[in-house]
Order: sequence, then C-alpha cells, then structure tokens
Amino acid sequence: MSDASARFACAAPPADHPFEDPRRALREVFGHEDFRGLQEQAVATLLAGRDALIVAPTGFGKSACYQVPALCRAGTAIVVSPLIALMADQVAQLREAGVAADMLNSSLPDEARRSVLQRLRSGRTRLLYVAPERLLMGGTLELLRSLEISLIAIDEAHCVSQWGHDFRPEYRRLSLLAEAFPGVPRIALTATADAQTRSDILEQLRLAEAEVLIGGFDRPNVRWSFAEKREPLRQLDRFLATRPRDSSGIVYVGSRKKADQTAERLAGMGYAAESYHAGLEPELRAARQARFLREEGRIVVATVAFGMGIDKPDVRWVVHLDLPRSLEAWYQEVGRAGRDGLPSETLTLFGPNDVSFARRMIEQSDAPEAVKRVERLKLERLVGVAEGTGCRRLAVLEYFGERAGAPAEPCGNCDACLEPQEEIDGTETARMALSAVYRTGQVFGAAHLVEVLRGTASEKVTRNGHDRLPVFGVGAGRSEAEWRSILRQLTSHGLLEVDLEGHGGLRLGPAERVRPVLRGEQAVSLRRPKADPIARGARAKPRAAAATAEMSGRDQALFEALKAKRRALAETAGVPPYVVFHDRTLVEMAQLRPGSRAAFAELPGVGRSKLDKYAEAFLEVIAAAD
Ligand code: ZN
Repeated sequence: MSDASARFACAAPPADHPFEDPRRALREVFGHEDFRGLQEQAVATLLAGRDALIVAPTGFGKSACYQVPALCRAGTAIVVSPLIALMADQVAQLREAGVAADMLNSSLPDEARRSVLQRLRSGRTRLLYVAPERLLMGGTLELLRSLEISLIAIDEAHCVSQWGHDFRPEYRRLSLLAEAFPGVPRIALTATADAQTRSDILEQLRLAEAEVLIGGFDRPNVRWSFAEKREPLRQLDRFLATRPRDSSGIVYVGSRKKADQTAERLAGMGYAAESYHAGLEPELRAARQARFLREEGRIVVATVAFGMGIDKPDVRWVVHLDLPRSLEAWYQEVGRAGRDGLPSETLTLFGPNDVSFARRMIEQSDAPEAVKRVERLKLERLVGVAEGTGCRRLAVLEYFGERAGAPAEPCGNCDACLEPQEEIDGTETARMALSAVYRTGQVFGAAHLVEVLRGTASEKVTRNGHDRLPVFGVGAGRSEAEWRSILRQLTSHGLLEVDLEGHGGLRLGPAERVRPVLRGEQAVSLRRPKADPIARGARAKPRAAAATAEMSGRDQALFEALKAKRRALAETAGVPPYVVFHDRTLVEMAQLRPGSRAAFAELPGVGRSKLDKYAEAFLEVIAAAD
C-alpha cells in the first residue's frame, strides 16, 4: 500500500500512473461520491477503448465523462473546444483540483505556449485543451502524434453540423483525428442536438461505431405550460400574482425595447424587475446579472442574451412573452428554471403574430436556402409542441432523442397532462374560415371574420355586403371565443397569415398548404379552445380568474350591468365597490350566468354572508340580460 499512497500523494497521479478505479478518481479529484445519470456509462465506454457521443444539457456534468477516464488512462487527453473562456475556466478548475491541465489557443503569449509544449513533451500533462484551428496546425498535430494520447474529447460537437445553430467549418476537418490517432477512443459532446444533427456528428467525425448516450433533458420538477397569447402583459400579471414574491424568475421577450418597457412596467407594479440585453452598457449588465444572482425575488426581463454561462439554481419560473425561434432555444431558456430540483414552472405564450413574424424573418434573411430549410423545420417543431394536445414532455424528450426505448408514459406535470385538451377534426371548420377569409378579400381582421362566420349583421358587415356572401352565418354554431381560437390555430398551422405591414388583417397562407385543405385532401385537427392556464393555476374554485378582456361582447355587456349594480349597492352601503365583490367575481358571474341561489354560491368570492346580502340583486340583473 506504501507504493499506492505515494502515488496518490498529490490529488491526481502523473500521466504514467493513472487511477485504476474511476470512482476513486471521481471522489479523490472531484469530490463527488457517485456518477450522475449517463456519466458512468460514458466513462466505462471510453475505458473500454470505444468511442462515444454524449448528448446532455448544460449543467449536467458532461466534462466528467472525459475528465475521469483521462485520469484513468495512460497518456495525455486532447480536449477540443471552440470557446476560449470555457477552456480557461475548465483548466483553472482542473488545476485547482490538482490535475496537470493546459491549454493551447490564440490567446496564449509565445512564452506561455512554449512552456505548455515543454510540459507536453515531458508527458506530464493529463489534459490538453486546444482550439480546433490550433490543433489542426501541422506542428501541433505532429507533436501530439509523437506522444501517448489517452483519449480525444470533442466538445460542442454540434459545431460540425450545418444543422446545428453554430456551424464552424474548421470542425469538419476534425474528421482527420480518426486516422491521425488510430486506436485512441474519441468522445463527442453536445448540449443540443436533434436526430439530424446527431447523425451528422457521427458521420462528419467518423464515429460510426460510437455509443450514443442521451440523457438529462428531463426535469420532472419543472412544469411546462403553453398558452395562446391573448393579452400577454395581463397574462404575465396573472402568472406573477400566483408566485410567491420572493421567488426569482426570468421573462423572455423578443426585443430590447420590449425588455426595457416590460421591466419598467413590472417595476412600477412593485416588482424588483430589471431588463437585460446586449444594448446595455457592459457594467450595467454585469451589475444587473449580479443582483439577480445574489438577491431573492428578483425578476429579469431579457432577450436571449441573458443567462449565458450563469447557473442560478433557484430560478423558480420562466415566462416567454414571445415565442423563441426553435425548440432548442426554448429548451435552453426554460432549462434555467428549477436546476435545484425544486418545483418550478414555465409558461410559454405563443400567438399567430409570433409565428407569422418568425416565419417571415426566416424567408427574408440572406441565409442560404439550406439553412433556411433547417430554421423553418426547427421553428415548426416548436410550434408543433406548442399547438399539440399531447404531453409536452414526451414531445420534447422525443425531439432530443431521450425517449428512445423508454415507455411512452405521459409526465403528469405539464399543462397538457394536467388539463388534457380535446383534439377535434377541424377540417370542415377550417374550410369555413379559409373561405370566409378568401371571400372577404383577405384584408379583414379576426373580429370582422368572426362576425361574418357567425352571421352577425353589423354595420361594417352589411356595408361591405358580406351578409350576402355564402359563408355568412355558416359558423353560427360556434361562439365568438371559439372562432377566435380557431383563427389563431389556423395561423399557427400556416393556413392563414397575419398581414404585419398592413392593419393586421388575415390572408391565406401559401397555396401549397391551403389548397389541399380546401380541396378536402388534407384533414386539419384543432384543439378545442381552452380556458387560460394561468387562471387555472390561481383558482380557488374552478375558472376563477378570467379577465374581462377575454369576454365575448354579450358577456361584456352583462359585466357592465353587474358593475352598475355593484356601484349602486356600494354607494348605499357606504363602502368601496370591491368590498361588495371583486371584479373577478363579476367576470365569473357574467360568463357563467348562474340562474339560482345554489349556482350563485359556487362563484369565487361568494361566502354565506354575501350570498344572503347580494344574491337576489345580482340574480335579477342576470335574469334580465339577453
Ligand atoms: Zn405531460
């Protein structure tokens, strides 16, 4: 044992005396008792001399997958990384742990580089982090080929793929590592890769025999919800009203201006909210990020720029007021919630304007057609998850490939599981809507179209002669709210488009999408319109917190009448109106229209005393309504 204890006198043994037991390396060098998730399998694969591809999200502990085997195999490990900051950070941490680690990149002064090379030649270096350009230089490659190499790790491996969001041409040349270092196990690592990117990585890096390990994408403690965007700021207000004041959260928006405005608005409401985006001075940005990390109960309203490289474990919620551009981007952003494993919640709002806007940005960009095709697909995957009626988690895990082989059990902790939505055959309905749009000239907004479909002969409808169209009144069987939701869904499906330059009118989508539906060759499935999920989260009784803005015209009229009654009662009693009933109760009253004392008692905010005092007066108003 004396031999062994001498060997482990420093934390990590020199390159020619590796650890024999990976668990011991993990414990003694990194201080962890056990491997997490697929780390152990990855380590075993490399120690067996085989290749691997690891797909796992940021914060999962991917680096242990190659650092531990690097300490257990003889020789120097080469770690290819494109990010200098990340490299420096890893090298510093390894050195802190007593491991002989070095890096080679363009940021290094000549003298420092010389001593790195010297240490390399002496065989003492356990891990060498190197930028791809530097590695591929003749001199570096020659030197490394003359040394004993334990393994090769290729970080951020999605950079090799045009399908990835971060394509780097020099990564393609890393394929030559297979020939330059025969018999040396190689491991590719990435945080985000769909099936296409994965197969691209395997092909480009010549990892045909690699063990593909995917994991860590599921965060069962985080509840994912999606909702149609109706009035985003009010939807946000209601979401926040259900959060404890001391919980930290992030609001993502699509533009800097919107970040500033939203943060200001929240601050005005008493929240500790600040904006964060690339347009701010670096010092200000750093200060805001630091405050968010340090203090409890802070809110950051950010563009995508926020969160790179931060790892705050107790972010309790993430709200998207605008839809991100891809499922990966969405995942990365909601992935900032609940890293500590405690219950957390996310809400993603998506609206027809978002989807139309994102689609148009893709079409109008200068990117090559191949890139546009990829971006289009990535956007449609996200829209598909948002629009779908199935479990969100199953859809997302399937996308990231984590579900392979696992039984398809719904998660029970997403909005689709908690409040299942019915899918209906909307083919006929879609055709009604599309022909209403077409027949009215493709310039009118949802309100007008709904009137035409429902057969409401308003002044505008008759003035335009739309009451004489064959589509007038064909959809009388559906409510105004239902038709609005249907028009939104058809826009998400790409069958309708919002005219963003004009007055926001709806027009038909591309002919190749619309024609098969009009001809009856393609079915359209729709969600049955649902209540606002935020309202559900906040409820004490069912459907408690609907907003006045979401009421139909008929309900709105009754709501006004109820408010007048409340005002009168409050005046008589000498109390403020809200003491009689909150708005929330009146909204429910207007929508549910209780016809009896018993039904009235079911409303939120109606206790026994108020039932006795007010039921009769309000029931009268309801009975008198149309
Ligand atoms: Zn679910």
